Amino acid sequence: MDYKARAGIIMCDSAHCTCFSLIEYGVGWLSNSLVLVVDSGHMFIDCLAMVLSLAATALAQSSTLNRTVGTHKAEIIAATANGFSLLVLAVWVTWEAVQRFQIGHPVVISGAERCC
Ligand SMILES: [Zn+2]
Repeated sequence: MDYKARAGIIMCDSAHCTCFSLIEYGVGWLSNSLVLVVDSGHMFIDCLAMVLSLAATALAQSSTLNRTVGTHKAEIIAATANGFSLLVLAVWVTWEAVQRFQIGHPVVISGAERCC
């Protein structure tokens, strides 16, 4: 399978993943569920990682005799950015979870509020 075919599949997967993460975020926001909101953020970061890795791979393939290693750094930078964004999400969810334990947050299930 050539690069363009693989890129098309990755972009299609990324689009589906983005749609699902947006729906999950909407349901999580409406029901005040931290789990759904964080999982949607995780999925959205995965979507960005797919696009970023695709761009990095394209950049790495464009190596020339003069720049044999330089463009492969893009893959490392993309992987680092992905890891860092997941770390930021983990810190935020920890902070939010601690806040919810201290204050308490109702979760809406089937129209009825239930306390955490
Ligand atoms: Zn993931």
